[in-house]
Amino acid sequence: MAESVAALSPPLLAHLARRIGADGPMSVAAYMEEALFHPRWGYYATRDPLGARGDFVTAPEISQVFGELIGLWCAALWQRLGAPDPVHLVELGPGRGTLMRDALRAARVVPDFARAARLHLVELSPVLRAAQAHALAAAAPAWHDDLATVPAGPMLLVANEFLDALPIRQFVRGAATWRERVVTMEGDALAFALEAAPADEADLAAAAPGAVREIRPASRTLARAIGERLVAAGGAALFVDYGYWPSACGDTLQAVRRHRAHDVLAEPGEADLTAHVDFADFARAAEAAGARAWGPVPQGLFLERLGLSARAARLAANAEPDAAARIRSGCTRLAAPEAMGRLFKALALTPADGPPPAGFA
Ligand code: SAH
Repeated sequence: MAESVAALSPPLLAHLARRIGADGPMSVAAYMEEALFHPRWGYYATRDPLGARGDFVTAPEISQVFGELIGLWCAALWQRLGAPDPVHLVELGPGRGTLMRDALRAARVVPDFARAARLHLVELSPVLRAAQAHALAAAAPAWHDDLATVPAGPMLLVANEFLDALPIRQFVRGAATWRERVVTMEGDALAFALEAAPADEADLAAAAPGAVREIRPASRTLARAIGERLVAAGGAALFVDYGYWPSACGDTLQAVRRHRAHDVLAEPGEADLTAHVDFADFARAAEAAGARAWGPVPQGLFLERLGLSARAARLAANAEPDAAARIRSGCTRLAAPEAMGRLFKALALTPADGPPPAGFA
């Protein structure tokens, strides 16, 4: 056994086979964690996955307007908070740093905001940290593995396509009970199997046999931590991601490689793994900590309320014809319902009292 496992390639598959051999089948969440963030062979440890030549493209990489509007959203909220100095400007999973670079450039219209803002980037990938250091050098960011080490105080937090990467557990309804989907070995290959679900999964309501329910423990922990910080020191948080509201059943685990759907188990560490965000579950966890959740609002509507069309028109008017066409098509892609405008949604968290943030009225 040991010999055949050691011969498995790539090395992450051999590592998973050893782990399953020693400890038994692993949850889908444990599999996602290994595949995405194993320090040597994990997907994010080994590459910059973004862009046309990578595996997927995100909103800030499609149009500068996305980050600019979010920068103005932050600056306006900061003024409404009474212009606290310092204020912690936090981004979770900043990718190449593009969103924050565009946000800080646009937020210069409120000069005191840039002076008061202390930039904190929560990022595990060493490759993407290097890209962020390059893009954001002027703002002297501090990096964190986790929100826990960001200092206490008033906070404006943004995260685009971060929650979808947090590991999910999957439960499958049998005739009368839920079972947990796990990852095991079948010969030399990874395969799904079902195990009796732990008794603490009591929050799973009855459903038709075969239904799949996804639970994301790390997003509940995060929502609670952010809620507690906002209640204690003020501020706001903005999450943009693809997902659903209200909570529902469905298998949304997906692998993407080179802009195409890929088998979830076929090449661990070589494809991005995500699942759609259960916005209602996330909002409930933040509200249980005393915060208030706003939205979710479809991305197209949210960006339009922040001034997407006007900003795009102004940029296009000053651009060469080719560049103007790219600006228009980028904004259409972000906002059109059949593109990213409806599946992607924006959700904000604030302390319980106070008016809605811009875009959530
Ligand atoms: N926000 C960027 C990148 C999205 S890709 C954009 O819109 O372009 C997901 C990002 O989240 C990457 O930077 C990835 O390394 C980071 N990430 C995912 N899970 C993480 C975790 N648990 N802790 C810290 N960073 C994480």
